[in-house]
Amino acid sequence: MITVENVSKSFWSRTGNVVALDGVSLEVAAGAALGVVGPQGAGKSTLARCISLQERPDAGIVRLDGLNTATLDTRSLRATRRQIGVVTADAQLFRQRTAAGNIALPLEQSGVDGPQRRARVGRLLDLIGLTDKAAAYPEDLTVGQRRRIAVARALVGEPGLLLADDPTAGLDADGTAGVLAVLDRARAELGVTLLVTTQDSSVVRRICDDIALLDAGRLVEHGNLFELLHDP
Ligand code: ADP
Ligand code: ADP
Repeated sequence: MITVENVSKSFWSRTGNVVALDGVSLEVAAGAALGVVGPQGAGKSTLARCISLQERPDAGIVRLDGLNTATLDTRSLRATRRQIGVVTADAQLFRQRTAAGNIALPLEQSGVDGPQRRARVGRLLDLIGLTDKAAAYPEDLTVGQRRRIAVARALVGEPGLLLADDPTAGLDADGTAGVLAVLDRARAELGVTLLVTTQDSSVVRRICDDIALLDAGRLVEHGNLFELLHDP
């Protein structure tokens, strides 16, 4: 369960103070899928980065399973971050590593043993439909396949929450369908809570049940997609 309470965040830039988030409050229930939609610059990434603890709000609180993340010390912050999977549209794979090797990387870094790595990577290759590409290198894969591998890498640490920041950006219809199918399967089969940011409302309609509409850092709509669409 994620609770965002009155979160604000500004940045200083050459043109002055930019308000990226202005008093945003929302909730994502455990196992739910929330789509955060809005135009470029609306604050979607900043919201995702505040929830994934990569950015600290200027004001307000992000609670993860009731835990007030504002009060965490550096060590607990790192431990909590590890329970959150993050994938972005510009996530890079290592060119010298195979598909399997890229997915396995976080496990190698956290010292998970070989047999367990193989089991988890194998399960994720199956989930993303790329078992036959385990030994392929990124340059021999399509952009959509590489994006699915980046999603698998974000899932390999068995996070309870997956944040997908603009996961279908730059993909064609097939690539988009492939990535959305993977996000949907991650939720159904691994039980992850999903937060997806996008400018494309069809992405939200296809895989989310809740929507948060952001505009200029403000939350202008938040609720169940079905109810919002069917409200007169
Ligand atoms: P979105 O993901 O909806 O496109 P962002 O959260 O990336 O929006 O950005 C919201 C606003 O905050 C934009 O005006 C953007 O330029 C600004 N912003 C975001 N991150 C930074 C940063 N690190 N430094 C300066 N400005 C930033
Ligand atoms: P690289 O050459 O990119 O390092 P490796 O073949 O050495 O790739 O594999 C790296 C990791 O991926 C290892 O942890 C290994 O257990 C795992 N792995 C490799 N091939 C498979 C596979 N077909 N199924 C599951 N895991 C695999």
